[in-house]
Amino acid sequence: MDTPSEVLHRVFGYDSFRPGQQEIIDQVVAGGDALVLMPTGGGKSLCYQIPALVRPGVGVVISPLIALMQDQVDALRALGVRAGFLNSTQDFDERQLVEAEFLAGELDLLYLAPERLRVEATTRLLAKGEISVFAIDEAHCVAQWGHDFRPDYLALSELRERWPEVPRIALTATATPATHAEISSRLGLDQARHFVAGFDRPNIHYRITPKAEPKKQLLEFLRTEHPGDSGIVYCLSRSSVEKIAEFLVEHGIAAVPYHAGLDARTRAAHQARFLREDGLIVVATIAFGMGIDKPDVRFVAHLDLPKSVEGYYQETGRAGRDGLPATAWMAYGLQDVIQHRRLAMEGDDAHRRRQVMHLDAMLALCETAGCRRVMLLDYFGQQGAEPCGNCDTCQSPPETWDGTVAAQKVLSAVFRLAKERRQKFGVGQIVDILLGKTTAKVLQHGHDSLTVFGVGTELGNQEWHSVVRQLLAQGLLAVESDYGALVLTDASGEVLRGRHEVLLRRDTLRPPRTRGTSGTGSGSGSGSGKSRQAVELPAEAAPLFERLRAWRATVAKEQGVPAYVIFHDATLREIATRRPATTAELSTVNGVGENKLAKYGDQVLEVLTTDPT
Ligand code: ADP
Ligand code: ZN
Repeated sequence: MDTPSEVLHRVFGYDSFRPGQQEIIDQVVAGGDALVLMPTGGGKSLCYQIPALVRPGVGVVISPLIALMQDQVDALRALGVRAGFLNSTQDFDERQLVEAEFLAGELDLLYLAPERLRVEATTRLLAKGEISVFAIDEAHCVAQWGHDFRPDYLALSELRERWPEVPRIALTATATPATHAEISSRLGLDQARHFVAGFDRPNIHYRITPKAEPKKQLLEFLRTEHPGDSGIVYCLSRSSVEKIAEFLVEHGIAAVPYHAGLDARTRAAHQARFLREDGLIVVATIAFGMGIDKPDVRFVAHLDLPKSVEGYYQETGRAGRDGLPATAWMAYGLQDVIQHRRLAMEGDDAHRRRQVMHLDAMLALCETAGCRRVMLLDYFGQQGAEPCGNCDTCQSPPETWDGTVAAQKVLSAVFRLAKERRQKFGVGQIVDILLGKTTAKVLQHGHDSLTVFGVGTELGNQEWHSVVRQLLAQGLLAVESDYGALVLTDASGEVLRGRHEVLLRRDTLRPPRTRGTSGTGSGSGSGSGKSRQAVELPAEAAPLFERLRAWRATVAKEQGVPAYVIFHDATLREIATRRPATTAELSTVNGVGENKLAKYGDQVLEVLTTDPT
């Protein structure tokens, strides 16, 4: 029997475990249960795949991500692991084949959709074979309060009664303690050891930039920092998804839309292209992403504000699963705040309170002058982290200024206008009044005679918008739900009376330099356990890396599998940098296991020795 580390080297071609993996694997290999909380990209799969390979019998993986099973199984088969799946997408013959393999002991891993377990035939089948471990992936699906609650998952509590001697491991990236407790009780995991990995994603660079001309900003971001990279651009509405995707294509960038309004075939086709092709961008509503297991998503961009920090972290977490540098970029502006403040007013009281709480946390993250990562980790209960050095606010700390007087000007303008009962005014009018502009609308309403008219010429139009945005974000100003007019809040009075000092940050549109400084070294050694060694690509290795990518694309196409199933970017980077000359040298590259060496070793060495000129 191989030890877990031997399997790690031989099958997966990796030289060391990621934080947490070894302890979890040891627990399960020894026959114990485990409840694993690990961020996306933390490396959960190995935690059950290795025990399944080390222990006798078949590892049964229960996963709701049916659309991904084929890819998961392909990726395992490429490693020489005997894997199969059973779900509703297969016809009778295909299922029969997998069942026969299972019974003949020819499988190491069997992926099952949860609803399969409710079919008597499936449990009878499982009873006839030997099972090494049950892995319950996306385990938050058992939680009533989880947004993707699945009744099918409740049936999983029976696994313990039927197979008391088979270890069970439940895995999730969902962080809240309530969910955690619910998973444990619903799955009967009271004997399980709990493993909570740190939530940091050190290779992700966080940046939130003021929104001025979002399309132009996005284009600039893509062209300067992520040319030719795969990524996701999130928008709030279907129509903006369509528009942005078109806009990118017009500018020569490969992009496809994805939203719930597209028919299922188109959606599936676009998702499949994203998984398979190098360098494709998906522009999507939040409907896209659940179970996007693509390791080389290099950026996640938000053109609209997410509803909560949970949502933001989950969406941005889809970037950089392979541990290489990735960017979480967001453009955020006044209209986002107004729109979300209005949306948050909808529904019943309890709903509103929750929405407002979520929104406030999200806005605080956007407006903070401190380290974004510290704030994120703090939000998820990991207090006391050091400033990371790999976010925009760390790299160019925003200037703050005493905005008390400016705030008072805005608030008193709002107060004066509020006296005009029949009329509602938005931000534009307030700013025009402060700047002393005699627009038609100002004159029509006689606003040029207000005492606040023209008192704000020390700031420009943009700057006043920034002030209003920050007042809204801080709850010192509110928006009315029906017209979106600005109104005072209870806290406004304190500012007007000079009892509350208002600290504001100065917006800078100049993007901080990031590429090159981010990535490898980012925050490593700060003690949150990161052993991921991202391989920086030296300029002279770039052409070779591109040749290897081209070779990989051809092979992937021939086999009809995603490119990363052949080799990850990280592996190709290391090959391009180290230029191994022999099979033995090649085998020491991270991600080159026994099977892939045998299959592709010669081809890779040939790419290395062929002179392209
Ligand atoms: P999760 O399911 O937690 O989101 P995965 O299991 O998909 O994460 O792993 C994320 C990526 O990290 C995968 O591409 C995987 O191959 C890689 N990986 C996992 N463990 C290791 C390791 N010990 N060394 C190198 N790469 C690893
Ligand atoms: Zn930081």
